[in-house]
Amino acid sequence: MPVKLVVVLTTIVSLLFLEHKFPFFPFQNSFRARITNNFELGVVNSIASSIWTIAISGYVVNNRSPHGIIAALPSPVIAGILAFLILDIYMYFWHRMMHRLPLAWRFHRVHHTDRSMNVSTAYRFHAIEIISSSIPKLALIWWLGISGNFVLIYELVFTVIVALHHSNLRLPGAIDRLLAYVILTPNYHRIHHSQLVAETNSNYSSVLIWWDRIFGTYHFRPDIENIQLGVSDEVRELNIWQSIVLPILPVED
Ligand SMILES: [Zn+2]
Repeated sequence: MPVKLVVVLTTIVSLLFLEHKFPFFPFQNSFRARITNNFELGVVNSIASSIWTIAISGYVVNNRSPHGIIAALPSPVIAGILAFLILDIYMYFWHRMMHRLPLAWRFHRVHHTDRSMNVSTAYRFHAIEIISSSIPKLALIWWLGISGNFVLIYELVFTVIVALHHSNLRLPGAIDRLLAYVILTPNYHRIHHSQLVAETNSNYSSVLIWWDRIFGTYHFRPDIENIQLGVSDEVRELNIWQSIVLPILPVED
């Protein structure tokens, strides 16, 4: 979709520039190879999911249930707000499930093996996770009768916020705290990428931080710069092939 592609590319280029200009963690030489690997994974995911997404989401959006709760609402504003909240809460519970179910964690762990964070981390996912996350979401969109425009608006906001909170951009602390009344900010997401299990099992929200506050998974620590990023049981710099096969390899429990 051209609008989404323009937003994705503009967001990536802007944040790559900003995070190099104002880095939170000092940049290391290994960043460059890691960024390349992450974007390669992003391209693989796009190819793997594009046929599926274009074919299925096009069908779902064009044939959504006319009797769905959202489709039946008389006010498009209320319908739009509700659609946004529902899609975001879906992502919260999906993400929480990826951490709590051992089989799901095998795939989501690929994302968390990044030992640094930058805008490319937002694209470091296993294709199986990307495709499987869209199945219940598309069913939800069909069942509730959410229009394609509302889905697109959510996806554009999601793209920008997720790229922002994975970036290595140093926002002034006061601005990060102010934004964190509404959205999940880089500092909160850095805590989610901590090697400490108690911290990685927190701050699951994608766009609105309210879900973590409501469902008791909100966590903050002031010394963000001391966080060890990554997962403690995988210290290799994974290339694209190692990332793809990682979920089927034995994990030390
Ligand atoms: Zn996670």
